[in-house]
Amino acid sequence: MSKYALLFDQSLCIGCGACEQACQSEHDQKPHKPTKLDHESYTWVESLSDGQYARHLCMSCEDPTCVSVCPVAALEKSSFGPVTWDAKKCMGCRYCMMACPFGIPTYEWYSTNPRVRKCDMCVHRVTRDLPTACASVCPTGATNFGEREAMLKEAKRRLAANPERYTGEIYGEKEAGGTSVLMLLSKPAEQSGLPDNVPQQDLPHLTWNVLEKLPQIIPVWGAFLGGMYWLGARKEAVAEAEKKERGGHND
Ligand code: SF4
Ligand code: SF4
Ligand code: SF4
Repeated sequence: MSKYALLFDQSLCIGCGACEQACQSEHDQKPHKPTKLDHESYTWVESLSDGQYARHLCMSCEDPTCVSVCPVAALEKSSFGPVTWDAKKCMGCRYCMMACPFGIPTYEWYSTNPRVRKCDMCVHRVTRDLPTACASVCPTGATNFGEREAMLKEAKRRLAANPERYTGEIYGEKEAGGTSVLMLLSKPAEQSGLPDNVPQQDLPHLTWNVLEKLPQIIPVWGAFLGGMYWLGARKEAVAEAEKKERGGHND
């Protein structure tokens, strides 16, 4: 189990958007009001029709499917909680986007050098034992950060103290085998814009069960993907060498 987690309490969210702004500022993005998750919106506070709000962000799964399907290990789960993406390794196959049960990763379709974009659970802060930017600014206690055990305990305490406020479950405690983002919902997942059909077990072993049934395809496909990755890396190495040749230095 990872060290840290976020706890989002829907009943306390007032839709102020401070978490969105803090996230954008932390990631050097232009200030804007998100209307969905996209390449410059790693979190989105959705305004629901009954005046409540839902938060969307990477759930930072404990055993992430995006990590398990990536053929070149461009995604990685940290023991602190974050799931990060490495531009140097990614070959743009977008398997991670297809595999994510929460529909989180987005892609820079407009770019000639597109990147996979998503919340990184403020890895640069969390690995220094600092709270995520979004949790550090939330004025109401709707978004909280702490050790996962402590966040689970706090969620259970809130549930027991005010059962009428919540659906009764902690979203993320079991979904996809458990996530580093836990949500106390006041309304069912599907009414909060969240998938309600995510299996309650870690998904990588399910995907591998399927893959095991395709023994003939995998080696060929693996070789193809490996080849594509090699070409990408080779292209970069050539460009780097040319740059050095021209400028005599590499900055
Ligand atoms: S900062 Fe807190 S209260 Fe404001 S929108 Fe985000 S989660 Fe809701
Ligand atoms: S929510 Fe999706 S993108 Fe985030 S860690 Fe889980 S599988 Fe990966
Ligand atoms: S954890 Fe960090 S990257 Fe993720 S939504 Fe919050 S501020 Fe943004």
